[in-house]
Amino acid sequence: SSENRAYQRVLLKLSGEAFGGGRIGVDPTVVKGIAHQIAVAVREGVQVAIVVGGGNFFRGAELQQQGMDRSRADYMGMLGTVMNCLALSDFLEKEGCETRVQTAITMGQVAEPYIPRRAIRHLEKGRIVLFGAGAGMPYFSTDTVSAQRALEIHCDAVFMSKNGVDGVYDSDPRTNPEAKKFDRVSYSQALVDGLKVVDAAAFSLCMENELPMVVFGIQGEDTITRALRGEPIGTEVYA
Ligand code: UDP
Repeated sequence: SSENRAYQRVLLKLSGEAFGGGRIGVDPTVVKGIAHQIAVAVREGVQVAIVVGGGNFFRGAELQQQGMDRSRADYMGMLGTVMNCLALSDFLEKEGCETRVQTAITMGQVAEPYIPRRAIRHLEKGRIVLFGAGAGMPYFSTDTVSAQRALEIHCDAVFMSKNGVDGVYDSDPRTNPEAKKFDRVSYSQALVDGLKVVDAAAFSLCMENELPMVVFGIQGEDTITRALRGEPIGTEVYA
């Protein structure tokens, strides 16, 4: 029943990298699978807001290294996230879910502007809200925006799905085979140890506001559904 559910309202961060299935652009098969997993959890009653990354198109920091002005490159990155939102909203609607896309950069023909109170109303009506264009500000990441949106629309927790890693480790598991995964870790330890699986800015925003975070791997048939249901998965980060 809804009283027993672990979470009433959550924010789910999806990395853009996952959307591309390892390439530039959107892999419809991958996005369809992600949409299905979200739809299953939403049908069970949890309210879901989503922030989508844009790494499958552009990352500002990478374009900067290739000689572009950082801010302009970051705006390109933000526009990429909007394409991902449109793709995901389409597949969510094919699953029978109602969706609204809200963007931090206004583009009236494509999406609603970001209006937090309106986003809350959509969620209360069972709609899935997708937040595009990050914070609308260069030098920010979609991880940080996820924490900010989760706080502003009163989510119970923020779920950071990751592409190549299934939680928070004591060192980078891609380079250190001895790395150990935490079931639970505090924000202060994650920050002091410099565990970079999630941005420090996102960790510190959640820590200061005591918002729980779950970091989990997106690989698998039902990892997103299980995370959104509140099943133990990945690493819980606490204040
Ligand atoms: N970005 C930005 N401000 C924001 C969010 C995103 O400038 O508030 C830009 C930044 O260039 C970033 C890109 O958009 O590299 C894509 O977002 P991100 O790297 O967070 O996506 P992910 O790695 O999660 O796919």
